[in-house]
Amino acid sequence: MAIAEDLEVARFLKDQPKKLFIGGRWVESASGRQFGVENPATGESLAAVAEAGAEDVDRAVAAARRSFDSGVWRDLPPAERARALWKVGDMIEERATEFAQLETLDNGMPINDALLFHAPLAAATFRYYAGWVTKLDGATQQVSLPGRYLSYTLREPVGVVGQIIPWNFPLLMAAWKVAPALACGNSVVLKPSEETPLSALLLAELLQEAEVPDGVVNVVPGRGEIAGARLAAHPDVDKVAFTGSTEVGKLIARASADSNLKRVSLELGGKSPNIVFADADLTRAVSGAFFGIFFNQGQVCSAGSRLFVQKKVYDETLDELLKTVKETRIGPGIDPVTQMGPLVSKAQQERVLGYITLGNKEGARMLSGGGRPAGLEEGYFVEPTVFADVDGRMTIAREEIFGPVLSAIPFDDEDDLVAKANSTIYGLVAGVWTSDVARAHRVAHALKAGTVYVNCYHIVDPVTPWGGYKQSGWGRELGPYALDLYTELKNVIVDIS
Ligand code: NAD
Repeated sequence: MAIAEDLEVARFLKDQPKKLFIGGRWVESASGRQFGVENPATGESLAAVAEAGAEDVDRAVAAARRSFDSGVWRDLPPAERARALWKVGDMIEERATEFAQLETLDNGMPINDALLFHAPLAAATFRYYAGWVTKLDGATQQVSLPGRYLSYTLREPVGVVGQIIPWNFPLLMAAWKVAPALACGNSVVLKPSEETPLSALLLAELLQEAEVPDGVVNVVPGRGEIAGARLAAHPDVDKVAFTGSTEVGKLIARASADSNLKRVSLELGGKSPNIVFADADLTRAVSGAFFGIFFNQGQVCSAGSRLFVQKKVYDETLDELLKTVKETRIGPGIDPVTQMGPLVSKAQQERVLGYITLGNKEGARMLSGGGRPAGLEEGYFVEPTVFADVDGRMTIAREEIFGPVLSAIPFDDEDDLVAKANSTIYGLVAGVWTSDVARAHRVAHALKAGTVYVNCYHIVDPVTPWGGYKQSGWGRELGPYALDLYTELKNVIVDIS
């Protein structure tokens, strides 16, 4: 293992194997099994991690249940819970370099993205939800029946919440899940992805330091089909919040139905249209098209993977885009000059290369990339790849690739565009580039997507609702909307006549 001693994260990585965090203690898995985590830039081993099995998930759920029923967290004065969450935000910020290095080594992302985007947004998410703890108000209702009634609502925590997250934004996804759940007074069992479990374990250290009581957050790295499946089917879990693929999202919904009808929220896949009208500022649109698909190596649920360009500016837009693609610096994420790092794993690299082969076979015109970059064979790199003249029926235009592969599709006019852009099973986000204000709003209304960006892309803030139409999910995270996901609404009606 070649981790430079001068990295701030060296301390965390030295202490191995990493253990499960259950009931406020660091414990081995019941089976004693461990799994390895790789650095995708080199293929080298990064850490050994205790692997949670079904028995460990049961232990974690029992610890969460005990903490919930005891009221040790949910019954704390709201201002105290708020203080603890704010402190977690501060600690993430103070240790941003350590988190950023860990994300980069574990996931592959460029260090500057981790440092300037992921860590600050994770900190901001904790602070934002710290603000909500003291504001979880109910309402009163004016009853019209004969007699006199006082009717009011209370927001109560759902209870024990299972949270299952993917590997693409490990720290940020953990923050999006844990912060609102804790703000509402729930107890949590978090299962990070087996590809990238490390930042969730570092976050658990911080939660402990911030004096979040034992058992309120438990972290159980483990395989999806074992630990994740047990959490989703567990009869004593009141709610499961899942972010990941649509395929697994359907299994989660089924597991809920087959067990205890636990509440389910799902943040799933996407195949988002990024749309350039001929009247757009092309310089900005091209950089938005590049950022839309190649940020995080295309491993973003909201990646603008279908680039629709109006025919009048189609050739010019692609020519300009290719210039940017050719200048992209690909390399290990830990090198600060890197703009694109490796994909998360060998399996993901092979999957993406398989789609590129399919794109060529189905007749799309490949303008750039298509393979592994020279000189970086030891890591799981894929070149930024642009296909032109993609037809909506081709596999690369329909399926989520989750890698640096763009499908460019020409269109005639607004009506043609809207029909094509909406022709997908997904509906997470869309981008529109135009200088016509009326058109921007018309198209934003016509697109079936949870978020529509106009003259921007990948803008995310803790206040902006996040979630999808159609098979991109159920429910909305972030903003006050996440509070609905993590509370039950109780109505109390008192006869006061
Ligand atoms: P995935 O569905 O394979 O895995 C996600 C999580 O589910 C992991 O923790 C995994 O261990 C677990 N899991 C796998 N099988 C399971 C099972 N049978 N039961 C319970 N849990 C199981 O997804 P991934 O490859 O980690 O991530 C990529 C996917 O996530 C993409 O489809 C992407 O669009 C989606 N995603 C969506 C959002 C969003 O906000 N909508 C954000 C990030 C990623």
